[in-house]
Amino acid sequence: MKKNNRTHTKDLAVALVTGGSRGIGRAICRELAQAGYYVMINYRSNETAAAQTLEMIKDAGGAGETKPFDVADSRATQTALKDIFSRFAGVQVLVNNAGITADGLFALMTEAEWDSVLNTHLKGFFNVTRPIIEKMVNQRSGSIVTLSSLSGLTGHRGQANYSAAKAGLIGTSRSIAAEVARLGIRVNVVAPGWIQTEMTQDLPRDAIKQMIPMARVGRPEEVAKVVRFLCSEDASYITGQVLSVNGGMY
Ligand code: NDP
Repeated sequence: MKKNNRTHTKDLAVALVTGGSRGIGRAICRELAQAGYYVMINYRSNETAAAQTLEMIKDAGGAGETKPFDVADSRATQTALKDIFSRFAGVQVLVNNAGITADGLFALMTEAEWDSVLNTHLKGFFNVTRPIIEKMVNQRSGSIVTLSSLSGLTGHRGQANYSAAKAGLIGTSRSIAAEVARLGIRVNVVAPGWIQTEMTQDLPRDAIKQMIPMARVGRPEEVAKVVRFLCSEDASYITGQVLSVNGGMY
């Protein structure tokens, strides 16, 4: 692990990971801490899980802190970002990972199911990314990676709300990538297939495996390593792209 030896907060390279308490987000926090970032572990309500993520980072020699706020709540997000901006010189890496599902057939979908998913993913993306990208424009550097989904690329039965949100994240990321590419800021998307987390724990594992060419679901770490790569200098000429991590599904 690269040690984050810098003592003044203004010198720290900060990575904010939304939804960093569990699942894929936790694995991303661990990877970015290993890469030397001071990791802001955002979460909405699961304080215990977020604290565990921070402990894992610290046990491995990394550094960071937990940062609870609901990304869908613009006022709460503004307050949290204000605090980060006042204590740190900027945010070098943003990973938009927070997400929820509210699956069901569209013909029966409630407005609340539609709104909760769209608000978390798309409004959440706006609330967090817009102020951070403004900072990144001033600092003339930064990398943003957003978690979409295979569902956002192909659509998926029972996920009209989730597919809309995840497709929207691809469209907005590509637009923003084109706007800020000349300013040293890269914006990319990772589209996982089926990954073993609490989000997918109640789905029929055997039926899902049949649909995956590699015949297994993915591990959070397998997504996190791709996010780490996209955030790194190794990906310095990659922007506006969608990288699928899905065991070979189309
Ligand atoms: P989990 O359900 O395991 O974790 C979700 C995380 O998002 C938690 O940290 C949760 O916080 C946080 N979160 C949810 N809503 C909010 C909110 N409004 N504000 C802040 N944080 C929030 O999900 P996964 O790890 O499986 O998924 C991570 C991302 O990857 C999501 O965007 C998901 O859509 C995407 N994805 C997942 C796939 C999979 O197969 N698992 C496949 C494709 C994409 P808390 O702990 O406080 O609840």
